[in-house]
Amino acid sequence: MLRFAPSPTGDMHIGNLRVAIINYIIAMQKKSHFGVRIEDTDKERNIEGKDGEILQILEKFSLPYNQLFYQSKNLHMHQNLAIKLVQEEKAFLCTCTPDELEADRQKAKDDAKAYRYSGKCSKKTPQEIADIRNSNIPFVIRIHKPKESIEFEDLIKGRLSFAPNEVDSFVILRANGTPTYNFACACDDMLTNIEIVIRGEDHISNTPKQIHIKNLLGYEQEVRYAHLPIILNNENKKMSKRDDASSVKWLLEQGFLPDAIINYLLLLGNKTPSEIFTLPEAIEWFDLNNISKSPARFDMDKLRFINREHFKRMDDKKFSTLFGFSDAQLGKLCKLYLEEASTLSELEPKIKAIFSPKDFSGQWGESMKILAQTIADAPFFETFDDFKSYIANATKLKGKELFKPLRILLTGAEHGPELSDIYPYLKSYLLEVIS
Ligand code: GLU
Repeated sequence: MLRFAPSPTGDMHIGNLRVAIINYIIAMQKKSHFGVRIEDTDKERNIEGKDGEILQILEKFSLPYNQLFYQSKNLHMHQNLAIKLVQEEKAFLCTCTPDELEADRQKAKDDAKAYRYSGKCSKKTPQEIADIRNSNIPFVIRIHKPKESIEFEDLIKGRLSFAPNEVDSFVILRANGTPTYNFACACDDMLTNIEIVIRGEDHISNTPKQIHIKNLLGYEQEVRYAHLPIILNNENKKMSKRDDASSVKWLLEQGFLPDAIINYLLLLGNKTPSEIFTLPEAIEWFDLNNISKSPARFDMDKLRFINREHFKRMDDKKFSTLFGFSDAQLGKLCKLYLEEASTLSELEPKIKAIFSPKDFSGQWGESMKILAQTIADAPFFETFDDFKSYIANATKLKGKELFKPLRILLTGAEHGPELSDIYPYLKSYLLEVIS
């Protein structure tokens, strides 16, 4: 099984969506399962409703999962496995107080060294351990650091090696009995037999810790890892909450299509056989080996371009339903506006203006009234040229005096696609638009 393991602690980030998409693709390619694990163990950081939002987003992006699992349901299993490690002397009880640990951290900072656990509680005698368990002294459980370096082959980054000190004797169970991220994650990946762990590169330093946990728990299955490079904003900083475009919800609200967002996220730092594609097509050729090791830069203009291309490829009638119509001709009309708009929210007001009551009070109002009357009385014309000649003749308006008010009357805007391009699709709706 492959898995997507989001924490319900905020809006879904595009980096997370990219992780979900790629896990889904690989699961499909391997004819394996795609599971979703909501990592809700850190109760204080959870935000109510975010799990539901994440699942809705997966649905919107057509990323169906075979299994859904809430990590907190496994609490007892995590606790039992931590206790098992203590019994096997692979982990130990640590009673160092937050003040002591903070002082050590400060000292490391003053010495410009990386903080490492002092090892103070790692050699307690069985009697000391029994005393702690029988007392009210708060304790955490730490895993003993590995004796040798932990190495793994990352499918994107290549071979990586971490010294025992870098892995350190880290906490696996907090004083309140809840597992830490690394412990819960490693246990659950083990219990669900995750074959390839694909996630963001911010987790690289967690991977040796998780491998160490699985090793000590006696897990022998081979697991592969792939860490996707981070996504940078145009200041070359990691896309964060401050960048609106980092939020999938925001992109959807702006009117970007799920298919276009998927297309864009799969293009980032990747070699693809074409620029515009769908998810089923990507399943045919996607290869982790083609993903670049270095960070990718988010480019809004590129996303807008891709969104337009997906709109253009959409069936005309289906496209028209986005604006409340169900006529392929109107779909074609709306597509003309892709020359000047890229998202649904940019297109909507332009299309709405065509069918909304017109304002006859402005500079061109009088001419618009004359034109509206003339069009209302005119016969039906197949071509724009015939229509134009008839109107010019009947109203005696010409040049700008004709085209400016005619455009406002027909489209509700002073600028836009050529009237000759619009007319073929609008000709059956003239009486509706001139009111
Ligand atoms: N909950 C972690 C996150 O959202 C999961 C990382 C992982 O895939 O292991 O970043």
